Amino acid sequence: MTNRRKFLKASAFTGIGLGAGVLTRLFAQNGSAVRTAPNSEVFKSGLVLSTWDAGIPANEAAWKAMESGGNALDMAEKGVNDTEANFSNLTVGLGGFPDRDGHTTLDACIMDSTGNAGSVMFLEHIKHPASVARRVMEKTPHVILVGEGAYQFALSEGFPHDSYVSEESQKAWKEWLKTSQYKPIINIENHDTIGLIAMDTQGDLAGACTTSGMAFKMRGRVGDSPIIGGGLYVDNEVGAATSSGLGEAVIRTCGSFLVVEAMRHGASPQEACEEAIQRIKMKHTNYKDFQVGYLAVNKAGEIGAYAIHPGFTYSLHKLGTNKVYKSASLLDN
Ligand code: ASP
Repeated sequence: MTNRRKFLKASAFTGIGLGAGVLTRLFAQNGSAVRTAPNSEVFKSGLVLSTWDAGIPANEAAWKAMESGGNALDMAEKGVNDTEANFSNLTVGLGGFPDRDGHTTLDACIMDSTGNAGSVMFLEHIKHPASVARRVMEKTPHVILVGEGAYQFALSEGFPHDSYVSEESQKAWKEWLKTSQYKPIINIENHDTIGLIAMDTQGDLAGACTTSGMAFKMRGRVGDSPIIGGGLYVDNEVGAATSSGLGEAVIRTCGSFLVVEAMRHGASPQEACEEAIQRIKMKHTNYKDFQVGYLAVNKAGEIGAYAIHPGFTYSLHKLGTNKVYKSASLLDN
């Protein structure tokens, strides 16, 4: 720990640190301040934080997993499995909007409290990509499997082929085909990727993120959601973060990793989410044209949420309530 602190202190002053803004300010104020003191109430009772209103039933499912003895990893997996199984959700699971060629392709990742991670990308015909990601993590020497390889691995692990095709998604795609305009911009009303962070009764953190990605994307496109450090990052010493929105902007800025690193350097979860949104602003002249939202939890059970535009919501199950909240945002349009 001493060595790590020394490194952190050194890195902040030598430029290896994560840069300007809140990180440098906090470091100047606090020295190396890793805030890990647990809030005993939350620490002992668990917490689930997830993106959008669709997080409410996912949080419930995660909570049930905890009540039946599951740890943070089980909570994260079971939570997002609930969303994946809801075929009326148009941006997660097999009900999700297809790519521009009409195929629904799924991306998911999962990360546990020991730093292990698994991910699947460009996976078709499997109902629970987050569970396949968990198997990649637990049963292979790898972190990521994609496409046909991920599909074959899923079958070999006993996941059934599922040929479900959503009529609603296909209808929307056929409508889109009339203009076929490739617009890699996610409208703020048009996404529901679920990123979920769970803290169990031991105070351990895990997370999962799963999506069908951007509607009518190019075939083979992968967003931030299955990328460790992009759509999800968990560091059980510090905290965890997840994102929803235009994946390309999150990937370019290593968004969830950036949020967690900001917390490592002493930022609160709220400050850390704001830092990551500021970074997107700094690196994208067109940042007003798309939405990104971040959620974060630290080891004290404090949470943060911040987005570019208003409209980003999150679901929080904490101390007996499971409610939707509106995130603060950079823009106030
Ligand atoms: N982040 C997802 C992606 O870029 C989309 C979303 O959150 O709606 O694939």
